[in-house]
Amino acid sequence: MFELMMLPYGMDALEPYISTTTMEYHYGKHHRTYVDNLNKLIKGTEFENMSLEKIILATAGKPEYAAIFNNAAQVWNHNFFWNSMSPNGGGKPKGELLKKIERDFGSYEKFREEFKNAAVSQFGSGWAWLVEDGDKLKIVKTSNAMTPIVDKQKPIITIDVWEHAYYLDYQNRRPEFADAFLDHLVKW
Ligand code: MN
Repeated sequence: MFELMMLPYGMDALEPYISTTTMEYHYGKHHRTYVDNLNKLIKGTEFENMSLEKIILATAGKPEYAAIFNNAAQVWNHNFFWNSMSPNGGGKPKGELLKKIERDFGSYEKFREEFKNAAVSQFGSGWAWLVEDGDKLKIVKTSNAMTPIVDKQKPIITIDVWEHAYYLDYQNRRPEFADAFLDHLVKW
């Protein structure tokens, strides 16, 4: 049985950028529902004792396992998203990661522009990510539950751009949510 992860901060810790109400719905209801659905779907199946990552890799791209994949990947993506933020986050990374960003994007500012653009331009529900692909950093977008670990990419940070992630606080202003994530929340 999978359990809903513990948040690394309080439900009100990301205020005013992400409200307690959003956390109550997003973590407390949406994320919890993915965990509960996954547990129901894998009960008594070959997936019952697998790790979350193994379930994702074993079900990706197989239409007969779409429901298991979607719920497993959404659990993984949300676990990663909550860990991509901190109440004291935001701004530039330091050290080796900043050097790699400058190497692969030209500057932090250019990276910031491209990451924000990916978050804003993802059509419909999905995610924007900074990943390490081999030895190169890349920005990728995924739709719905899709996750870069399926493509053997190593996620560094992610932003959830499903409407449930920002609509209560920002309504249709997804660009403002992306700004808040980058400038006030991202944990490098
Ligand atoms: Mn979400």
